[in-house]
Amino acid sequence: MLLEQRTLALLQKILPELEAGFDLPALAPPSESDYRKLEEILGEVAVSLRGNYPYFHPLYAGQMQKPPHPVARAAYMLAMWLNPNNHAFDGGKASSPMEKEAVAGIARMFGWETHLGHLTGGGTMANLEALWVAGKEHPDKWIVGSELAHYTHERISEVLKLKFKKIKALPNGKMDIADLERTLMEIPVGTVVATMGTTGLGTVDPLKDLLDLQQKYGFRIHADGAYGGYYILAGNLNGDTAEQFGLLEQVDSIVIDPHKHGLQPYGCGCVLFRDREAAKWYLHDSPYTYYSSDEIHLGEISLECSRAGASAVGLWATMRMLPPVPGGEFAGILADCRKAALELYARLRSDDRWITIMPPELDIVVWTLKGPDTRTVSESARSFFKLAEANQLYLSLFQYPTSKLPPSPDGPIVNTEYITCLRACLMKPEHLSWIDELWERIMRTMDHPDVKKSLTHV
Ligand SMILES: *Cc1c(COP(=O)(O)O)cnc(C)c1O
Repeated sequence: MLLEQRTLALLQKILPELEAGFDLPALAPPSESDYRKLEEILGEVAVSLRGNYPYFHPLYAGQMQKPPHPVARAAYMLAMWLNPNNHAFDGGKASSPMEKEAVAGIARMFGWETHLGHLTGGGTMANLEALWVAGKEHPDKWIVGSELAHYTHERISEVLKLKFKKIKALPNGKMDIADLERTLMEIPVGTVVATMGTTGLGTVDPLKDLLDLQQKYGFRIHADGAYGGYYILAGNLNGDTAEQFGLLEQVDSIVIDPHKHGLQPYGCGCVLFRDREAAKWYLHDSPYTYYSSDEIHLGEISLECSRAGASAVGLWATMRMLPPVPGGEFAGILADCRKAALELYARLRSDDRWITIMPPELDIVVWTLKGPDTRTVSESARSFFKLAEANQLYLSLFQYPTSKLPPSPDGPIVNTEYITCLRACLMKPEHLSWIDELWERIMRTMDHPDVKKSLTHV
């Protein structure tokens, strides 16, 4: 099997159950010729889609792409027959309560028994809402985030006309607290963005230090866990990382992407505010008192208007099947992803032809080849990347600032600003059991004359 199909038979079995809920006059089905046309076009679609990388396969470890769980895909599809819109309560009459339930489950994962929040089209939109509230709370103050924070924070700040400043990152990929404190003394900072798993390296900002500084400088904290947020559940983080995740309860807002680590189809982000009072900023015509009731309509606490109710349905079904609780099966998947990353890292460390950048904090491994200088190394990394693809191993490239390379006597001479690295996102449940296969293909790629040639310069 490559593409799972049994859920289609299940859908066919379950669809009449959905239909049974509507006692209405029957509709005429599409005509025979419509079906023939449909088949023809679907055939064309299938052929076009073959042009994708095999995102669903464990040999794909390039970008942060994790296939949706079959239950998410099937529940999403089931909802497609109705296409609810969770913007308004009457547009998503049954799927809105499902969204609230799912979002409350995510909030509880972070220790929040009450919260204000909802699903969004993705992490960018969720962060936009969080920074929009940040700007409402402190209209004249700055937003700051690590230089390794997702690039959209700077872009979003521009859109919202908020002042944004980058804080330096240390060679270990974490926000440089000394640089943050210098900044706090220089400019009024309203909100600090803490990234709980950077997109490039998977590093986690030092939330504990931020909370300490918060005592003195009184800023808000927004945690961007679009990629890493679910790692609060993995039982096998290193002690320091686990401590940072354990403090998430104390931040003002959190973003997490169920479409990254939550096994959902794209179009599923989530923003959460600890204080339900944040609803006041969303107020348009309704009096504020309206929001203090428990019955907040999702459309009135969201900047986006129409949103797929199907996203909420997919998430709800997945959380029924795999509850996001410590020690559960879902938590075990995350723990396995990290194990896979640690295993790959250990193998790279034991082979002196590689330079590893840092041990994986979550499930991303970044490394490059040894070579005489950073330009040559970058060239070999780029050819390795292409040759790996020829061996059906799909990685990504990452540009790491050479200024942050750890000093090493046998390291390359620095003659470029960035060094091109190879990057593996081991986000799939199968990656752990596929490590030997991935490694075998890495070795095979290593044996290619083009890669060997660059290594002989060492
Ligand atoms: C992916 C990501 C985002 C952006 O989210 P989208 O869902 O791609 O819009 C923001 N922040 C971090 C840390 C991310 O990894």
